[in-house]
Amino acid sequence: MSLIVQKYGGTSLGSLERIEEVAKKVIGWHERGHQIMVVVSAMSGETDRLVKLARGITFRPNPRELDVLLATGEQVTMALLCIALEKRGCTARSYTGGQVRILTDSSFNKARIRDIQMDAIRSDLDTGLIVVVAGFQGVDEEGNITTLGRGGSDTTGVALAAALKAKECQIYTDVDGIYTTDPRVVPDARRLNRITFEEMLEMASLGSKVLQIRSVEFAGKHNVPLRVLSTFKEGPGTLITFEEELVSEPMEKVLISGIAFNRDEAKITILGVPDRPGIAFNILGPISDANIEVDMIIQNVGRDNTADFTFTVHRNDYERTLEILREHTSRMGAREVSGDNKIAKLSLVGIGMRSHAGVASQMFQALAKEMINIRMITTSEIKISVVVDEKYLELGVRALHEAFDLAKSS
Ligand code: ADP
Ligand code: ASP
Ligand code: MG
Repeated sequence: MSLIVQKYGGTSLGSLERIEEVAKKVIGWHERGHQIMVVVSAMSGETDRLVKLARGITFRPNPRELDVLLATGEQVTMALLCIALEKRGCTARSYTGGQVRILTDSSFNKARIRDIQMDAIRSDLDTGLIVVVAGFQGVDEEGNITTLGRGGSDTTGVALAAALKAKECQIYTDVDGIYTTDPRVVPDARRLNRITFEEMLEMASLGSKVLQIRSVEFAGKHNVPLRVLSTFKEGPGTLITFEEELVSEPMEKVLISGIAFNRDEAKITILGVPDRPGIAFNILGPISDANIEVDMIIQNVGRDNTADFTFTVHRNDYERTLEILREHTSRMGAREVSGDNKIAKLSLVGIGMRSHAGVASQMFQALAKEMINIRMITTSEIKISVVVDEKYLELGVRALHEAFDLAKSS
């Protein structure tokens, strides 16, 4: 008998009918002799609705109280799922994050899991109960309710699977696996049988919101076998795996595994800063002091001993970043500060890139063919990212998908 952790996303639990379907699915696994722990998200749209409620009062609600509010979404689905399981004669018990004791730090709205104490749950599972845990939430040392950041139920699932040494953590969602790119943008995107943790981590960090970044980090670190599959359609899904495990499957050794994209970006340019030591620090110091994360950075050196400096931040931080820099423009001796928040980042990801030259030029050629101007470029061992105007994002994704022949083989 093996223990499986199953996480069901918001769309999978979006109505009473769907919750009843999930209950049937869970019972099916249980009847096949597995111990089952279920992690639930809130019903689709519910977390957004709760955020909006709070913002209806003030744009910056108190983070502690916001978490008290947001954690209610998952409490609804965990109870409804247990009620649906019991209706079918199955004994089930629900737990909030605090009741399990998913202990987190106190960074409200983006807390990190520190420890999980689950003696009660373990004995429930041993007596054959189905345990349902609210995803996305925990408690800090003082007993305050915390949440783990948007998409955080994935991380709850993986963390519980790690703590219980489960055979597998199954992430059930509205797509039947990880695709070469978001199938909503490229309908003929192809499902991958496997993808490595490294690639999945890049895809998630570069904008593919199918899995929360932390869940992938956590699974990689704790060796949790992780699989993404559909709630609505039978199939093997996609297994996230270690690179060594791919060696026996040479067919999977492809150059590019996927294309990620992200619209949440904004670009800031500081023109004509004196080209001397300390300038990058002068520009970025106040930004980091304000807790704003900087992503891509480029610096051009001009002929008159001045430099132009460009970097990107999250779109939500755009106005604040401009404000901070404008305060410092004269002190930095800069000529001008300008920005653009209608940009997007497009990235190619693949471990095959390590041993292949020419991927970048093929990428640039495909974008040039569509007359898409590249504004910034960064590369690492297994990814190439470019910044383009937001209006070209979808065209760019489709062009790259075609240029690298990622579509389904028809
Ligand atoms: P859930 O509510 O189940 O957590 P999410 O909306 O968080 O579901 O994640 C599933 C969605 O992720 C899909 O509907 C799909 O549009 C999107 N997605 C983005 N990139 C990919 C990708 N590479 N492969 C599959 N799905 C992707
Ligand atoms: N309900 C939370 C959200 O919408 C957590 C999750 O679904 O994973 O972000
Ligand atoms: Mg999700």
